[in-house]
Amino acid sequence: MVTSEYERRIAARFAIFDQDGNGYIDREDFSGAAKALLAEFGTAARSDRGQALYIGAEAFWQGMAGIADRDGDQRITREEFVNGAVKRLRDNPDRFAEIARPFLHAALAVADTAGDDAVGVENTARVLKVLGLAEDLAATVAATLDTDGDGRIDEEEIVRAFARYFTVPE
Ligand code: CA
Ligand code: CA
Repeated sequence: MVTSEYERRIAARFAIFDQDGNGYIDREDFSGAAKALLAEFGTAARSDRGQALYIGAEAFWQGMAGIADRDGDQRITREEFVNGAVKRLRDNPDRFAEIARPFLHAALAVADTAGDDAVGVENTARVLKVLGLAEDLAATVAATLDTDGDGRIDEEEIVRAFARYFTVPE
């Protein structure tokens, strides 16, 4: 079987959303990611930041389901992801940035341990690792996100990079 570079990249994106690896994307993948991030940074689920992260995760899920869950069974299969999400996100990357932003904004607040409205490269790597990236890849990606090289990553850098990564060109 020949797997194209495009298919390989789509599979990698699907695997990131399918956090628990059970073969489909659903609400649990998003709430699970929120839970893991809170645990990594020692933030209580009941705190304002914890609640904001769960709300952002739910909004992200609802947005993805609205785009991709064609049969409305509250699960996004790989086929729905490829035929729905990937095409529509590629056609409209701004829409994707919009649905991901509340979650990314809240994740940034959780990881902003210095409290200066940005996240250091090291904490960004921690976030990426919690979301399932291999440790060395997480460090590389985090460094790449810091486009102006000041050691800090702000919301716009994260949202833009995220949208770029998931709107895979064919
Ligand atoms: Ca899953
Ligand atoms: Ca479905």
